[in-house]
Amino acid sequence: MTMRELASRLQQTESAVQSILSDLGESCESGDEALAFDASELVALEFGAQVKRVDAEVKKDDPQKEVIPLRPPVITVMGHVDHGKTSLLDALRKSSVAAGEAGGITQHLGAFVVKMSSGASLTFLDTPGHAAFSAMRARGAAVTDIVVLVVAADDGVKPQTLEALSHAQEAKVPIVVAINKCDKEDADPARVRQQLIMHSVELEEIGGDVQVVEVSAKQSTGLNKLEEALLLMSEMMDLRARTDGDAHGVVIEARLDRGQGPLATVIVRSGTLKQGAIVVVGHQWGRVRCLRDMAGAIVKSAGPATPVEVSGLRGAPLAGDSLNVLQSEDRAKKLAEKRQLIMEHDRLQKRNLKAAAATPATP
Ligand code: GDP
Ligand code: MG
Repeated sequence: MTMRELASRLQQTESAVQSILSDLGESCESGDEALAFDASELVALEFGAQVKRVDAEVKKDDPQKEVIPLRPPVITVMGHVDHGKTSLLDALRKSSVAAGEAGGITQHLGAFVVKMSSGASLTFLDTPGHAAFSAMRARGAAVTDIVVLVVAADDGVKPQTLEALSHAQEAKVPIVVAINKCDKEDADPARVRQQLIMHSVELEEIGGDVQVVEVSAKQSTGLNKLEEALLLMSEMMDLRARTDGDAHGVVIEARLDRGQGPLATVIVRSGTLKQGAIVVVGHQWGRVRCLRDMAGAIVKSAGPATPVEVSGLRGAPLAGDSLNVLQSEDRAKKLAEKRQLIMEHDRLQKRNLKAAAATPATP
């Protein structure tokens, strides 16, 4: 964004913006000069506005699009309770060619990458469930590209199946249906298909574009077909992300580790996150001390759609927070502090509103 654009969006004069920039130690000579994201955000916060980062997603009409590399899709598994979401994730994790390698894929990250024999890969979020999906969305984090809707072949479409469906539709995230438990004697995949069609799911067999794959998480059958279907969907979506430049990412999990301090699992959306980078993550900041991959191995960097565990933050961020790389510790600190203040302010305001609502009106 240029300074002129920023000023007009904030409904401020260019000189007002310029003066704040100079307070921040930023020089900006002309209105056409592009501003770094963190500088724009600091200015906006100064005027009491919140900026939503326009995600570094590649736009459909970007003329440079073809030179931007393809990236793996990020996939969330949803469905009715007991229909086999956890089992399916476990089976998929084991299906990766990387699972046979030393160390294997541990479950500590909250996300894992399935490497297929073709060399293609798929990133799965390990937290099935609608609550996580909605919470992330509510925080503005649209990290999921594709939803796998799991429906048990013996149980059919249930309330949470429909709930998952509407979450995906609202978020405009395409689905691929996995009819699970096809090993069971009373499995009736044809009935599941009928039920889905009755609920206006446009399956391929009726001319739509929703693929259906029959699987058994228990017997690990149909997994290749499911992976192929996901890959096909991802190819149709033409998902691309720049690998160069500063990283932008989204937190999918964060916790406090006794030994290592705050740890956040981040999925890089674009750019490459490197060890040593100065980052602001939601209302926290820090310098990346160490990056670990899903096998717990230390890596120097992580590119698009790769989940990594980040250490070195001053405190634990929240799931859905975005991560941005900044050029100076000072700015990272300022930005994090500003956000913290605003968060605190919002929290107090909410509490006051609640308290006011709870107080009975005086007669
Ligand atoms: P979630 O609640 O959706 O995460 O479901 P779980 O993965 O916990 O599975 C619920 C139950 O269904 C467990 O007892 C699993 O062993 C069982 N289950 C999951 N997948 C299959 C399958 O493909 N075939 C059979 N027969 N049972 C399965
Ligand atoms: Mg489960």
